[in-house]
Amino acid sequence: MRIFSGIQPTGRKHLGNYIGAITQYVAGQDRGEAIYCIVDLHAITVPYEPAALREAVYDTAATLLAAGLDPDRCIFFRQSDVAEHTGLTWLLSSVTAFGDLNRMTQFKDKSAAQRELVSAGLFFYPVLMAADVLVYRANDVPVGEDQRQHVELMRDIAERFNARFGDTLVVPEARIPEVGARIMDLQYPDRKMSTTGGSEQGTVLVLDEPAAITKKIRSAVTDSGSDVVRAPDKPGITNLIEILSVIRGSAPEEVEHEFDGGGYGAFKQAVADAVVEYLAPVRERYDGVRRDEDALEEIFERGAEKARTIASETLADVREAMGFGAVRPSQ
Ligand code: ATP
Ligand code: MG
Repeated sequence: MRIFSGIQPTGRKHLGNYIGAITQYVAGQDRGEAIYCIVDLHAITVPYEPAALREAVYDTAATLLAAGLDPDRCIFFRQSDVAEHTGLTWLLSSVTAFGDLNRMTQFKDKSAAQRELVSAGLFFYPVLMAADVLVYRANDVPVGEDQRQHVELMRDIAERFNARFGDTLVVPEARIPEVGARIMDLQYPDRKMSTTGGSEQGTVLVLDEPAAITKKIRSAVTDSGSDVVRAPDKPGITNLIEILSVIRGSAPEEVEHEFDGGGYGAFKQAVADAVVEYLAPVRERYDGVRRDEDALEEIFERGAEKARTIASETLADVREAMGFGAVRPSQ
């Protein structure tokens, strides 16, 4: 079992990322050969500052390490250090349908939010993401619900490649948690909590102080009722129920039952306390890890070396299948 996932560099990783992705990454280390990267090449598809990007890569790396990624038990690296990702991207473009890219909802949402340039990179992003996974021949891709469509696309790309050029790539599967795969913005519970598109007050950051977390959760937008139950017309309360049930590892029904008749105030306070306690270990470990940039660079270097060993082999096979270079002697 080979697992791959990527996460965008920003110091603003949030509770949705933590529940939907980061906890799965940590668990993946016990399930198989786990490969994780900070996808800095994806971060340039929207406006950004070069100096801030460099900082954000360290911030995100430190967050993941503080959350429990262990460079001795997984391959952890920075995407831009492994040139095979971009090398494979162009080759895969020949088996990617323009019409499929045109249907991606993330592109529609993110391009609509741009005030100046809508970059071609934002449109082409899913092909780079396909290359990220396919270059490792990974089987298993832990992601949140919002990435389902991109994983479907990479499966189509791999299948089309294999049909056209012979069996070369592994067709991966998305691993999406049953509860907590789509944590919503606390202020706009019809939108997912987001690194780049969310509201300040509606986004609980992994590194937020306890008082800030409590304030954000206590002021979460809910309906005018008082029943702690999940329902399509109660997206705010539904979101909080899901959050608490993931943290406790219990069914949402149990949470509903426990807070039945207690009102929203007590329920929100209980969610706030649980989230504070849940994120505290990461925040406590973070500073110590973040401070030592040399150590982070060393981790990246070791990770990139291991990643390259796998990625270069796939790329060589892909090139050969597509008719590039001399035929390699068979082993
Ligand atoms: P952006 O909104 O700018 O795309 P993001 O918050 O989605 O940023 P990413 O780095 O793109 O952050 O996502 C990292 C992982 O977190 C992905 O696997 C994604 O599916 C997951 N994820 C993102 N938002 C949520 C959410 N609200 N709930 C659960 N999982 C999420
Ligand atoms: Mg995203």
